[in-house]
Amino acid sequence: MAELMAPSACIGILGGGQLGRMTALAARRMGFRIWCLDPDPDCPAAGVCDRLLVAPYDDPAAAADLASGCSVVTLEFENIAAEAAEAAASRAPMRPSPEILSLCQNREREKAFLSTHGFPCAPYAAIGSPEALTAALGRVGLPAILKSADFGYDGKGQVEIRPGDDPVAAWQRAGERRAVLEKKIELAAELSVLVARNSHGRMELFPVAENIHRDHILDTTLAPGRFPPSLVAQASDLAAEIASALKLEGLLAVEMFLEASGRLLVNELAPRPHNSGHFTFDACITSQFEQLVRAICGLPLGSPALLSSGAVMGNLLGHLWLDGEPDWTPLLAEPLAKLHLYGKTRAHPGRKMGHVTILAAPEQGLPIWRRLRSALRDEELRGRAASL
Ligand code: ADP
Ligand code: MG
Repeated sequence: MAELMAPSACIGILGGGQLGRMTALAARRMGFRIWCLDPDPDCPAAGVCDRLLVAPYDDPAAAADLASGCSVVTLEFENIAAEAAEAAASRAPMRPSPEILSLCQNREREKAFLSTHGFPCAPYAAIGSPEALTAALGRVGLPAILKSADFGYDGKGQVEIRPGDDPVAAWQRAGERRAVLEKKIELAAELSVLVARNSHGRMELFPVAENIHRDHILDTTLAPGRFPPSLVAQASDLAAEIASALKLEGLLAVEMFLEASGRLLVNELAPRPHNSGHFTFDACITSQFEQLVRAICGLPLGSPALLSSGAVMGNLLGHLWLDGEPDWTPLLAEPLAKLHLYGKTRAHPGRKMGHVTILAAPEQGLPIWRRLRSALRDEELRGRAASL
């Protein structure tokens, strides 16, 4: 028997960033009420949720308060303290579960889960001391990347180690805390698969996306990715198997590497909406945000099919604001482009301020995105921001 949760029920979201904001917009459209918890009273979700609880992510009492007013709680941010997640889960169903959050928020636990279940990932070693790092370098191989186990995003907490580098210096630069040493992979491409799964084990997968990173930050997503059908099937199967192994209730993004050798490796898991799924907002019958709401509320999952021949999503990062608010006229004048801004009042280089989706297949959409970013003076402002 399906657990149909009537719209007008209240959904709690741990976190009020742009992912929370877009989830709230999708949920409100369906008649749900939304409460968010975020330490910043001016967070992106502030203006679009019904109630914002301003509290740190490690405040169990505030998380319990949030859950007390909600029928279900989810998250848009992974660095929620375990005690806060458990406090929320004691008052309302939390989907995904605190166990899945705990696994995905720590690279060491995540890698252990992947390798125990036989999912392919880059050679790695768990590191707790400079001695362990020195010992592991030979086993893992060089070049390698030392990644802090906790609190990493957009390449933060990552140090590359090349032949001849001093491991002790690398350990210090990575913050002298538990970490994962991972072999640096020769990448042919990066891709991601978003999978939604509900409590009945029903799953829906979004089109496999191709991701282009710059300075360790997602720059552009192409959907569908420019991959042969056999690779698309392999990536989709892998994501579905991971979601099932986790007994996921909610949404999971599986980031993958395509090695130059043609082998597919799992990079990392995010149990929430993902930047590489923003194209779904405009380009799919059901967006990743609506799909999350459906998955956690026991509603039938929606169709993830594309409404257009494809989509190109470009991130709008903080350097574009170096001379003040960018002139959006060229972007707004482009008939295939949709502008999204997250309402952030402060910009800094690398900060995700918004994105643009171009509703065209990658071969048609990429040149449009290149033209728009040059109208936004992307290279010039990026260079000036980097030299500040
Ligand atoms: P996060 O997204 O949490 O910052 P990731 O582990 O996804 O951390 O790393 C960010 C980006 O850095 C990846 O998308 C990829 O471009 C690059 N990268 C990370 N690990 C490796 C690796 N082992 N080999 C090659 N490139 C990597
Ligand atoms: Mg990543």
